[in-house]
Amino acid sequence: MFDIIKVRKDFPMLNGVLMDGQDLVYLDSGATALKSQKVIDKVSEYYTQYSTNIHRGDYSLSHRADSEYEKVRDIVKTFINAKDSKEIAFTYGTTNSMNIIANGLKPQLQKGDVILISEVEHAANVLPWFRLHEEIGVEIEYVPVDENYFITVDNFKKALHDKVKVVSLAHISNVIGQEIDLKEITRLTHENNSIMVVDGAQSVPHIKVDVQDLDIDFLAFSGHKLGGPSGIGVLYGKYDLLNALPAYGLGGGMNNEILCNTEYELKAAPYKFEAGTPAIEATLGMGAAIEYIMELGIDNIHQHITSIRKHAIDRLSNEVKDITILNKEVKSGPISFNIKGYEGPASQDIGSALASRGIAVRTGEHCAKLLVDLTKVKGSVRASLYFYNSIEDMDRLVDALKEIVEGDALDWLI
Ligand code: PMP
Repeated sequence: MFDIIKVRKDFPMLNGVLMDGQDLVYLDSGATALKSQKVIDKVSEYYTQYSTNIHRGDYSLSHRADSEYEKVRDIVKTFINAKDSKEIAFTYGTTNSMNIIANGLKPQLQKGDVILISEVEHAANVLPWFRLHEEIGVEIEYVPVDENYFITVDNFKKALHDKVKVVSLAHISNVIGQEIDLKEITRLTHENNSIMVVDGAQSVPHIKVDVQDLDIDFLAFSGHKLGGPSGIGVLYGKYDLLNALPAYGLGGGMNNEILCNTEYELKAAPYKFEAGTPAIEATLGMGAAIEYIMELGIDNIHQHITSIRKHAIDRLSNEVKDITILNKEVKSGPISFNIKGYEGPASQDIGSALASRGIAVRTGEHCAKLLVDLTKVKGSVRASLYFYNSIEDMDRLVDALKEIVEGDALDWLI
């Protein structure tokens, strides 16, 4: 296990940054994670020592940028245990990766084919498929969730049928935080001759995601949720499947030849997905963030979060009046809850009251708008944890909520 005090020292935002006059308790890592000094230094190293374009220059500094950039492909390959670094394409983030996948599968699909998703998905794993429905008439179906809003293997089996061509699910959902049984779901998906697409935005930062062991076909995730810069993410695909997707954007850096008679030849994957100058500094920063995670150990990270989460859940359930926790049973980052009388849009009032005590949480629908349809709860408070959070952060959250609920902090709203 790692030393939490030492880890916290690596994050400038956790050392002396105040919010509303109080030491920051950052519980919004589900939205974006804080950046370690190592990440900041890596970005700064690029800007100050070899700030040149990649794949273009014929001079040593540009070669250095090239090799640092390509090294990140190897870091990602190791991190998710891909077979080959050519299976890793850099994108702008999960959303961008999901759009490339959905759009890229279009030529393989036809009217009446079914895309199977669920009602707990983030918009990034819903709207790209809705667009395919509009464009080519594929149908969207949903795996029913149980009373805890969980996707069970049994329900998944019932939802699968021979018209399902693509299954696309979050490995860990962003509001409920359930880790689905991805290995079994993938096995069943392949048995059905369907393609398995995984939204890994919330799982890759938290648990070991081994793409070969899970046998998934595509994986999307974002650098900023693992402590890297924003504007960078990953599209993983088994090589033949990835290479079969058409390029999404066209331009420089991703073509071999362009002729005046309009003929052109594109590079193979992963380069054909990287048109134009990429987010070089963000890519290097993501590499540093992943190295930091690998040094701490992803299993240690998961264990730490599980243990501080349990402490928070025990105290919240026993000590905070009128609280309903939507996802008590899960082991991942988000704790989603409502306070009686402040459900839905009014959850924002709880968020504001916490903010005035230095605690950053997210409130509202969390980009999972289908879930709102399902639960009829138009919004909740989400405190989402990461490895730099401490037991003291959990105590600050519980104590602040007690004070808010029991005191007169909310009276002015009534
Ligand atoms: N999927 C899930 C499950 C998410 O939590 C998020 C981010 N909230 C996304 C997709 C989208 O990620 P990004 O905004 O980095 O593209």
